[in-house]
Amino acid sequence: MPSKPEITLIGAGLVGSLLATLLARRGFRVTVFERRPDPRIHGFIGGRSINLALAERGWHGLRVAGLTEVIAPIAVMMRGRRVHDTAGTTNLQRYGRDDSEVIWSVSRGQLNCTLLTAAEQAGATIHFAQRLESVDWDTLRIHLRNDADNSQHVHQTSLLLGADGAGSALRQAMQGVTDLGERMDALGHGYKELEIPPLPQLPPAALSAELREAQARGDLFAMDPNALHIWPRGSYMCIALPNAEGSFTVTLFLPGSSTGTAPGFDTLTTRDAVAAFFQRDFADAVPLMPDYLDDFTRNPTGLLATLYLERWHLDGRALLLGDAAHAIVPFHGQGMNCGFEDAVELADLLSAGHAAPAEVFAEFQRRRKPNSDAIAAMALDNYVEMRDRVDDPDYLLMRELERV
Ligand code: FAD
Repeated sequence: MPSKPEITLIGAGLVGSLLATLLARRGFRVTVFERRPDPRIHGFIGGRSINLALAERGWHGLRVAGLTEVIAPIAVMMRGRRVHDTAGTTNLQRYGRDDSEVIWSVSRGQLNCTLLTAAEQAGATIHFAQRLESVDWDTLRIHLRNDADNSQHVHQTSLLLGADGAGSALRQAMQGVTDLGERMDALGHGYKELEIPPLPQLPPAALSAELREAQARGDLFAMDPNALHIWPRGSYMCIALPNAEGSFTVTLFLPGSSTGTAPGFDTLTTRDAVAAFFQRDFADAVPLMPDYLDDFTRNPTGLLATLYLERWHLDGRALLLGDAAHAIVPFHGQGMNCGFEDAVELADLLSAGHAAPAEVFAEFQRRRKPNSDAIAAMALDNYVEMRDRVDDPDYLLMRELERV
């Protein structure tokens, strides 16, 4: 590439804000447009998982951006899966041989806010409350709208990057002029987020004697904080990841429609039905979730799907990355991790500076697509493993043998 072009980035989520940091550090003039208002001022409108599993692939991106020291204090180590059976007995299945092979739980909101600040400190300009509406591909002018006051804004660019998530508006605009070979496969299962508050906030009357003692001692967590908790129940499951301040984000994954004896979101339409379901299947978690019935009613049911896209770029004009190019189901906890790898790879390729944008984009897709295809397939497989196999004695024996 002859000289460093001005780069316009759509979306300042996890991947967009990391990429903006990496590119601005390397001397690019980076302008970012983000649909939401600034979460550092207005609070984080999460909607989706409140925390995420951060793995080594994701840490690598944060390390390259020089951010490990700011993220480490908000990350809780998870050394394995703690599996809860219906009687409430638990067992820990380690991810590796020791604590050098672990994953981490981080707050999505805090991580995103930290990355936004890092991007600005590196020199990127972020415009909030600016939603991409359309692109004029002949002139590379983009049209944006502020949803709060309905004002419009036009921005001239020479190179467009889309990190605007699974429902990408940039992808839609690209589809208007070329066939990207898009396919969205719905899983047919949805998810609902609930919460286990920090132990000091739980009503003592509902707790076991052991937990009351822990509460009196001043313990922060109502369950083992250093594990990813799973309640596998065959065709569905709950999981819980710890937050640094003592709470757990609990996620119920369940088919949308019931089949035979297996429940679905369509059968959980009354508080009584939800209560009976949780008392039967997740009895040990119920006393730890005093507001679960309100949360269940109030929180939206999220949908899960895998996005398959044959082409990630429109010649040298626009490129998609992160969920905009390869949204996956969350069962390997790798969507953000994979998107962070995209950001590092793209920043390296763009700053190498010896090829035209169309070549850089084609090379990016050549390097990254096999990886994102592989993790998409593994994420689908892992749903079956987590909900149905982690409490199977044969599977446990096989894992033990693998460790010897
Ligand atoms: P997003 O995070 O979706 O960010 C896109 C950004 O673009 C947003 O800020 C949005 O406001 C903005 N935007 C959207 N449209 C426009 C527009 N028109 N104009 C301007 N801006 C726009 N991944 C993991 O690695 N580990 C996990 O444990 C994990 N758990 C998950 C659990 C659940 C339930 C789900 C659903 C996902 C999970 N993921 C996990 C996946 C992870 O959330 C995504 O892979 C990650 O958020 C992708 O980042 P992104 O920046 O590409 O997209």
